[in-house]
Amino acid sequence: MKNKIIIIGSGFGGLSAAIHLAAKGYEVTIFEKNSKLGGKAGEIVEQGFRFDTGPTLLTMPFVLENLFNVGNFNINDFISIKSKDIVTKYFFNDGTNFYQYFNRDRLLLEFEKVCPNSSAEFIKFINYSKKIYDLTAELFLFQPFLEIKNILQLKSLKTLFKINRIDPFRTVHNANNGFFKDKKFVQLFDRFATYNGSNPFKAPATLNIIPFVEFEFGGYFVEGGIYRIINALEKIAQKLEVKIYKSSNVEKILVKNQKVEGILIDGEKFDAQIIISNSDLFNTYKLLIGDVKNSEANKYIKQELSTSAIIFYWGVSTNSENLEMDNILFSEDYQKEFHQLFDQKVVPNDPTIHIHISSKKNFLDAPKGFENWYVMINAPSINKQNFDIEEIRERVLQKIKKMTKIDLSNKIVFEKFKTPLMLEEETSGLYGSLYGPSHNRFYSAFLRQRNKSSVIDGLYFCGGTVHPGGGIPLAILSGKIVSEIVDKNLR
Ligand SMILES: Cc1cc2nc3c(=O)[nH]c(=O)nc-3n(C[C@H](O)[C@H](O)[C@H](O)COP(=O)(O)OP(=O)(O)OC[C@H]3O[C@@H](n4cnc5c(N)ncnc54)[C@H](O)[C@@H]3O)c2cc1C
Repeated sequence: MKNKIIIIGSGFGGLSAAIHLAAKGYEVTIFEKNSKLGGKAGEIVEQGFRFDTGPTLLTMPFVLENLFNVGNFNINDFISIKSKDIVTKYFFNDGTNFYQYFNRDRLLLEFEKVCPNSSAEFIKFINYSKKIYDLTAELFLFQPFLEIKNILQLKSLKTLFKINRIDPFRTVHNANNGFFKDKKFVQLFDRFATYNGSNPFKAPATLNIIPFVEFEFGGYFVEGGIYRIINALEKIAQKLEVKIYKSSNVEKILVKNQKVEGILIDGEKFDAQIIISNSDLFNTYKLLIGDVKNSEANKYIKQELSTSAIIFYWGVSTNSENLEMDNILFSEDYQKEFHQLFDQKVVPNDPTIHIHISSKKNFLDAPKGFENWYVMINAPSINKQNFDIEEIRERVLQKIKKMTKIDLSNKIVFEKFKTPLMLEEETSGLYGSLYGPSHNRFYSAFLRQRNKSSVIDGLYFCGGTVHPGGGIPLAILSGKIVSEIVDKNLR
């Protein structure tokens, strides 16, 4: 008899786990509470505009490609991934612009344009970043978390015994300060800590692995939008006979004698020997098991949450010639911004703004003469709205006008937004947090939830809030890792 495996949620992690396990011959069922798959990766298609609602940038595309290969599919038959020549354009408060070219020669020239000798500083920095990647990727990204057999590999032992080589005892900011004379570059590289919702002024410099991934492997977009990946994964999951139930909210994971028995949906019981939760970690513990007294849950739910976001989706009647597909408008005082986000738990009064305009490359994403602006600022994870969205909107518009000279006040013809509480409602991320626990302590990486429960038999985890971490590639890897553990345990 085939083993029955239930997956709760259809984010990148859940879909990846389903595809890996179905390709191995298991009977897999996904229950997704929303009417569409994808979780944080969503889509708005209205009035001639199309927006990705969550992730907009694809990194480490080889991870996604490998997922298609698992079921013997060719990614090119489903989606078209394009490399970005300019990954991001940065706007600083002193009027400086910086283009993050993927091409290394152009990039080095760009560094020199902003600050003489900074290209040499960058080369030193990226070699250091590569060293962290080389020392940690196998141990922390591609494998189950610190399993004895992995630790005993020579390379892992070297990493653990010479832990200071992965720079966990300085903060991201302190390390970057040591590399770059020009404070603008310190701010630019500090920002990568926000890729998993952390605070660069507190998080360990080990997170300086992230710039290596983006500068070395590049940044990518998908023809037709990131959501085309979700469509493609749904298709291949179905070809592998994964059963997918949408609009099916799992109310409870049923546990008896510390062993999973099944789940409850609308009071109906579905039996399963294996349950993989792709829901937010805190949500899994708090709502699904309801057993927060168990020692494992206690260890995790006390951790500080990663950031949330406020996102505006604006259809605008403009052709912004001085903007790229991705643009960052930095705040003047970065430390204050993170103090407000994490300590005061308020929306920063001068937030860094990310403007993503997919219609720059995906021309069908907006009518001719219009653009689709996805405008995101970091926000604290909060259980009660403590800001006025109209006031934030005005602040954001004023800042865009000041830094880009584009006045949108009379040009917005379509409008939607998301707040932390709306994100919580849609994705189940506690208080709208995007990546579960933050990485703000030097030992945070060691406190990441493993992919298998050590307390409840048959309970597993995948997705961006557990090992190995958040973002599209890591969520996909979590699905791969959990499938390997499940397969090993069942055999
Ligand atoms: C605004 C924003 C911008 C981002 N930008 C980027 C980016 O540019 N690049 C990048 O790589 N990453 C980015 N990310 C992060 C990335 O989107 C996530 O890390 C990734 O999509 C998370 O996938 P996941 O597997 O954790 O599942 P999630 O997306 O968290 O999905 C979990 C699913 O489980 C479902 N679920 C939860 N509870 C239940 C239940 N009880 N019953 C049934 N179903 C349930 C939810 O409805 C949801 O569909 C961004 C995220 C956001 C929100």
